[in-house]
Amino acid sequence: MKIQYLGTAAAEGIPAIFCDCETCRKSALAGGRNIRTRSQALIDDCLLVDFPADTYMHFLQYGVPMTKIKSCLLTHSHLDHLHTDDLAMRRDGFAHIRESFPLTFYSDVSGYELIRAAKERYNIADDTVAAELLALNEPFEVEGYKVVALRAAHDPKSTPVVFLIEKDGKTLFYSNDTSEYPEESMEYLKTLKKPLDLISLDCTEACNHATYIGHLSLERCIALRQTLLDIGAADKNTKFILNHFSHNGENVLYDDFVKIAAEYGFDVTYDGMVVEF
Ligand SMILES: [Zn+2]
Ligand SMILES: [Zn+2]
Ligand SMILES: [Zn+2]
Repeated sequence: MKIQYLGTAAAEGIPAIFCDCETCRKSALAGGRNIRTRSQALIDDCLLVDFPADTYMHFLQYGVPMTKIKSCLLTHSHLDHLHTDDLAMRRDGFAHIRESFPLTFYSDVSGYELIRAAKERYNIADDTVAAELLALNEPFEVEGYKVVALRAAHDPKSTPVVFLIEKDGKTLFYSNDTSEYPEESMEYLKTLKKPLDLISLDCTEACNHATYIGHLSLERCIALRQTLLDIGAADKNTKFILNHFSHNGENVLYDDFVKIAAEYGFDVTYDGMVVEF
């Protein structure tokens, strides 16, 4: 399986559009991997995860084959993960589509309703954009992948989920916009038949010592990794990658944080990063 991280920031991006903080100024100066756009990922060039406003930029920058993509998993409905207005660009005349199929979004309630509202607002036909309501803790099939959505610990109004994505004996756990998982999700993770191959964790706060619900920091990722090892959801072969960063995190600049995270055995995402496993 291959995952490409197209965007790796929290809602503001790094640098943030209206921000004059030290991190944003430094990241703009340093450029390269220190620049982060809003979160999105692409699996094996065919399965999209999330649809932020930066989708268009990712399409330009990484050649995302948007005309061929049929399916998108949505983690939740926050604006850095779902920008429904761009769905209007798939309508007749705005897009000339050779092969007719809907772009189908798989989402829990909030994202599902936002997509349905956008379809109504822009009069988007069912064969252009479709929305499927997820059932939690139950495997379903998308594009030949076995996918399970688990409840995330994040703003409940955004109906947040994290995804287990499995194919050809490999499983990716795409897990951001969550803090330590709720009990029902932990229970599911305890039932996994074999350890996960790649676990992508939220590290919004980098080196901050924070305790709030909804995101994680490096020290909390260290503890969560231990929990996942203890319940058998991970083992020594599991690759742990930290993702989804905010300019408000301490030492969050890629050039600084990649060295700090490496001391604890974590890789750090950057926009455009490809991982094959
Ligand atoms: Zn986010
Ligand atoms: Zn800033
Ligand atoms: Zn969020």
